[in-house]
Amino acid sequence: MIAVVPLVCALSGDVTAGQWVRREFTELHMGMAVRIVVHAQYDSAARAGARAAFATIASLEDVMSDYRPASELRRLTVAANAASIEVSADLCAVLDAGLTFARLSDGAFDPTVGPLVALWRAARQTGTPPSLPAIAEARSRVGWSRVRLDPDSCTATLDPGVQLDLGGIAKGYVLDRALATLAERGITSALIEAGGDIVVGDPPPGARGWRIVVRDGDPAVVSRAASLANAAISTSGDAEQFVANGGRRYSHIIDPRTGLGSTTAGLVTVIARDAMTADAMATALVVLGPERGTSLLGYYRGVVAAYRTAVVQDRSP
Ligand code: AMP
Ligand code: MG
Repeated sequence: MIAVVPLVCALSGDVTAGQWVRREFTELHMGMAVRIVVHAQYDSAARAGARAAFATIASLEDVMSDYRPASELRRLTVAANAASIEVSADLCAVLDAGLTFARLSDGAFDPTVGPLVALWRAARQTGTPPSLPAIAEARSRVGWSRVRLDPDSCTATLDPGVQLDLGGIAKGYVLDRALATLAERGITSALIEAGGDIVVGDPPPGARGWRIVVRDGDPAVVSRAASLANAAISTSGDAEQFVANGGRRYSHIIDPRTGLGSTTAGLVTVIARDAMTADAMATALVVLGPERGTSLLGYYRGVVAAYRTAVVQDRSP
């Protein structure tokens, strides 16, 4: 199990009870630093809220981590090949959303991409792309119609050999749930950030929104990010995770149609109402590229995207 390490607990501003205080907390979860910024009326409420939000994140890691052999996701992959298996409400929600993205993106986003992800992960370690026969074998086990989920009863059936990977969507869901945990405790003015994903609730007191700086983007996305409230922003296509071969860079995001790491889009930034949608959409748009991406965006009202951008960071007060 990954230890939960409190890295930073920065105190700033006035600690007088009854004043609004800004508090920032950082812990290591999901293999990365997760940062929570809250505005609360009491320091103790801010601390208790952040503690509860981190606990929510930790419990969801036990459900959806691909790196933990005992996670519910990994156990489902091993166990579900024969019969239908009941899954938790959280896994059910993410799998359901992932399968919907798969259907609407015509399989560009695919939660069964696990065998290909594993191949390319190994390739990044050795620096050599996978062999064509290995890609063909992995592809033979990928396809979202190989998973059947009944979202009402939360039962799932997987075909033999299917390996689920929720790496392109689960983080967004986890951030949404952590924000909800804060809200349940009366902390509605909050920002949570992990890797390329940020979710925000109500604006900081006296502000119209959280100030997220987006570099090099479509002006519509840049200006919306600059004052963001009750929304989420995600960037995908991390240029640092790739294998280079024959003058091409193969990303850690896989095009399931070819079985190859995506070589097309570069970075994509998405703004949506919730972090799960922003997260999955950004991953899907990397695979689809700008033209095919437009039709997927058409299914999701209020979601905006910009190619060749990067979320720089939150610069909120
Ligand atoms: P993100 O950083 O949100 O874009 O997610 C990248 C992760 O999504 C990868 O590390 C894989 O775990 C997973 N992934 C890769 N390709 C796909 C795909 N075509 N559909 C869904 N998930 C994918
Ligand atoms: Mg994603």
